[in-house]
Amino acid sequence: MKKYFYPLSVLLIFFTLNLSAQAPVTDNPFFKEWKTPFQTPPFSEIKKEHFLPAFEEGIKQQNAEFEAIVNNEDKPTFENTITAIEKSGELLTKVIKVFSSLNGTDTDDEMQKIAEKSTTMLSKHIDDFYLNEKLFQRIKTLYNEKESLNLTTEQNRVLENYYIDFVRGGANLNGEEKEKLRKINDELSQLVLKFGDYVRKENNKFELIVDRKDDLAGLPDASIQAAKEKADARGLKGKWLFTIDKPTLIPFLQFSEKRDLREKMYKAYMNRGNNNDELDNKKIFSRIIVLRVEKANLLGYKTYSDFVLQKKMAKTPENVYSFLNDIWKPTTKKAKSEVVEMQKLIDAEGGKFNLEPWDWWYYAEKVKKEKYDLDEEMLRPYFKLENVIDGVFAVATRLYGLQFVERDDIQLYNPEVKVFEVKEADGKHIGVLYTDYFPRAGKTNGAWCGDFRSQSNINGNYLTPLVTNVGNFSKPTSDKPALISLDEVRTLFHEFGHALHVLFQNVNYPSAASVPSDFVELPSQIMENWAMQPEVLKMYAKHFETGEVIPQELIDKIDNSRFFNQGFETLEYIAASLLDMDWHVITDSGERDVTQFEKESIMKMGLIPEVWPRYLTTNFLHIATWGYESGYYSYLWSAVLDSDAFEAFLEKGLFDNTTAESFRKNILAKGGSEDPMELYIKFRGRKPVVDALLKKRGLN
Ligand SMILES: [Zn+2]
Repeated sequence: MKKYFYPLSVLLIFFTLNLSAQAPVTDNPFFKEWKTPFQTPPFSEIKKEHFLPAFEEGIKQQNAEFEAIVNNEDKPTFENTITAIEKSGELLTKVIKVFSSLNGTDTDDEMQKIAEKSTTMLSKHIDDFYLNEKLFQRIKTLYNEKESLNLTTEQNRVLENYYIDFVRGGANLNGEEKEKLRKINDELSQLVLKFGDYVRKENNKFELIVDRKDDLAGLPDASIQAAKEKADARGLKGKWLFTIDKPTLIPFLQFSEKRDLREKMYKAYMNRGNNNDELDNKKIFSRIIVLRVEKANLLGYKTYSDFVLQKKMAKTPENVYSFLNDIWKPTTKKAKSEVVEMQKLIDAEGGKFNLEPWDWWYYAEKVKKEKYDLDEEMLRPYFKLENVIDGVFAVATRLYGLQFVERDDIQLYNPEVKVFEVKEADGKHIGVLYTDYFPRAGKTNGAWCGDFRSQSNINGNYLTPLVTNVGNFSKPTSDKPALISLDEVRTLFHEFGHALHVLFQNVNYPSAASVPSDFVELPSQIMENWAMQPEVLKMYAKHFETGEVIPQELIDKIDNSRFFNQGFETLEYIAASLLDMDWHVITDSGERDVTQFEKESIMKMGLIPEVWPRYLTTNFLHIATWGYESGYYSYLWSAVLDSDAFEAFLEKGLFDNTTAESFRKNILAKGGSEDPMELYIKFRGRKPVVDALLKKRGLN
């Protein structure tokens, strides 16, 4: 994942090199020039009490800069308006980047309080920016004259983005319409919060209490133990309590021999928000859709989907539908063959029933064991963290000639962190990479790529990037080094891919770094492909004690199991994506019966009865509250891009330098400075096609 810590806004990536002369004289390091190597943050001097004053002063300074722009009596030019906006907010950017990074890796109550306060301050600051009528008029004037301004491709795109973002915020509406939009936004934000709150409460509400040992048949010890502890905590001595949070639900579905209990758990999970009680989300979702249609129409779009996709690589709903439909057919075929395989097992066991959705995980697990015999614990000894890091560095060296030099003169924000200078083959400095891979109290779950400074080059002032890769991987134990799992290896390569994107970026304007969400995972996901190539595994997967290279037999097992369950996983995903799209291409703002609409949508797509969409409407948080409305397709879209792009390497050679150079020049270096589809075509010579993904997942 690529991390944006605050609501995505171009405002947050503004820079300038001109240090304000009016900075208060204190010992606050944010108000001073950093005389450290590569101007890296002087962590030893930064104290928690420095953040809020720096946020306040940063906002004040940027407001003054905006004020100067709108009060400029000269006719608007790209330089005196857009470049001036891009140069503004140097202090604010600096404190946002450092604070949000540290709040992700080393938070505590005090940091959380600062986060709350600064988020409120920043969202007001962003609102003020987009409501700045005078600023919009200058941008609009430039936008209308853009043909005659002689702008570069990047400048054009930067200008266009400002104009579009203001318009999408309602800047072109009249007073009455603006008021209407404000009301819609207010009601939407409340409904969306309520929807999320109900799902959260539903997650906690359902409990399966087991009081007979028989009903635990098949479950792993860890699941039983956790259920016992939950029951004990509730005073239910001698019983077991199961909830429907994913870490509890999935092992239950995989291993419980009790078919009726699997059904109960699965249905409870799928029906969250759909129980006709005080936590029901049907009316709320229907109203959300009505408001989204009204908002889209008000802003001049036919559907909400058109509104969303304007800013994505996919561009139109038609493109998303045709993309999903291309994969639908082969995926359904594969899923059907998986059903046949599992039904055979059921019949052989003498089960007199047809496979149902709640049986899938249980029988898939049996097929996996029978067919692939892959125990991931056998792999761990070959994935010592240091070896995997050497591996990912070696891949970058062979592809791009990069050198990674560990430095001991750059300050660390935590002793667990390592820091590397990244250099070109000829020794030229590119940037700095901080790696921070172990869980600790105060670190957010998951893995991400962030930065303390991103690259920009306004008027020849080149700033080099300071990138972070953060994870929560398996730690060393008293007798063993850190031996990470297959999944963690993939994640490490993934985040490193994001890091390369940040390190290689070569744009002028900070806001040109912003990349659409259906394109941003291409650089990261493509790196995962190298991780599992037999040739690459042999480079880094060495036994932590003996140094022995991973045996061919294990490589084959990894290779063979990659098609496992892919029909199911892809199908339940596409079904949810189509449901999302169907909801957002509605053109009239009438209320809908959610159950009926969903039923029709599923019928129309022709989903096989053994599979349900990954999420149903009343608990589909991605499209109700997480900002993925008309965007759930993005994950698969990026998967097509990365498979198709990696195919170019498979055709020309895993480490073919010409292909790597082209990928760097056309994709990685460009950030969001050009249209992503055009960038892709420059690299691949054509638009992406789905074939490589079908091949990779065994769907062809
Ligand atoms: Zn990612």
